[in-house]
Amino acid sequence: MIRVAIVGGAGRMGQIMAEGLSQGADLEVTTLVDVNEPAQLRGSSWVKSIEEAKDVDVDVVVDFSTAQGVASSLVWCAKHKKHLVIGATGIVSSALDAMDKQARAAKIGVLQAANFSIGAVLAERFAVQAAPYFDRVEIIELHHDKKVDAPSGTSLASAKEIAQARKDAGLSSLIDPTTSFTVEGARGGDGGDGIMIHSVRLPGLVAHQEVLFGRDGEGLTIRHDAYDRKSFVAGVALAVRAVGATTGLTIGIDTLIS
Ligand code: NAD
Repeated sequence: MIRVAIVGGAGRMGQIMAEGLSQGADLEVTTLVDVNEPAQLRGSSWVKSIEEAKDVDVDVVVDFSTAQGVASSLVWCAKHKKHLVIGATGIVSSALDAMDKQARAAKIGVLQAANFSIGAVLAERFAVQAAPYFDRVEIIELHHDKKVDAPSGTSLASAKEIAQARKDAGLSSLIDPTTSFTVEGARGGDGGDGIMIHSVRLPGLVAHQEVLFGRDGEGLTIRHDAYDRKSFVAGVALAVRAVGATTGLTIGIDTLIS
């Protein structure tokens, strides 16, 4: 049995993880750590800070709080020799480097992923695989109407990976043939190397992305749809099961999906 503490356990992701992870026969969510009282405890104990967690009840800490929360979780994990899975976003790359050093010094495993959705990770992998074989590629990302930033971080990451795959294959940067605009912005924005990203915002949507490839006489569309935050549970469960066999920082769950 792997005993799990969830930091940010009262939050939207924390509550979904508490419910989802405890359904794994080999996983037990023993502790919810949050400054706020969780709406549902489901048999776990609630503590207000990671320092109050009982180390005998925890093998792996899953952190869906904030970048600051993650820093405290890492200190606690290093002190008590526990492993850490990081879902919280907003951690700058210099902080990740420091985390790797801290984790190596303490001989613990830390796994951080900006996207724990298995479907999204596979969609990305397939897009990179397809990239060398098509002349042109564009991305459409579609999200709910409360999202304030555009384009999505995932679409930018996709554009970057696809651009690298095109470059590795000896393909040159894309040049948009459009020279006349009746409506400004109709061709979207350049996500890098001429890969255009188009952002759609509508109520009813959650998080969706299409990568559209084209070459003479054929097209290929790779689409991923996230309908619910539950889509992140399976990837986090994979990480919780794998992190104990690692030392130092691992980025992403790609290597856990064969
Ligand atoms: P949320 O605001 O609903 O929940 C965050 C919770 O963390 C809150 O309950 C808050 O009280 C608690 N918290 C903050 N600082 C804390 C600390 N130091 N100690 C204990 N608890 C603390 O947010 P959310 O929608 O659940 O998202 C949480 C994080 O997860 C965000 O960074 C979000 O971007 C990220 N996220 C990541 C993925 C992924 O796949 N990696 C997916 C979805 C969301």
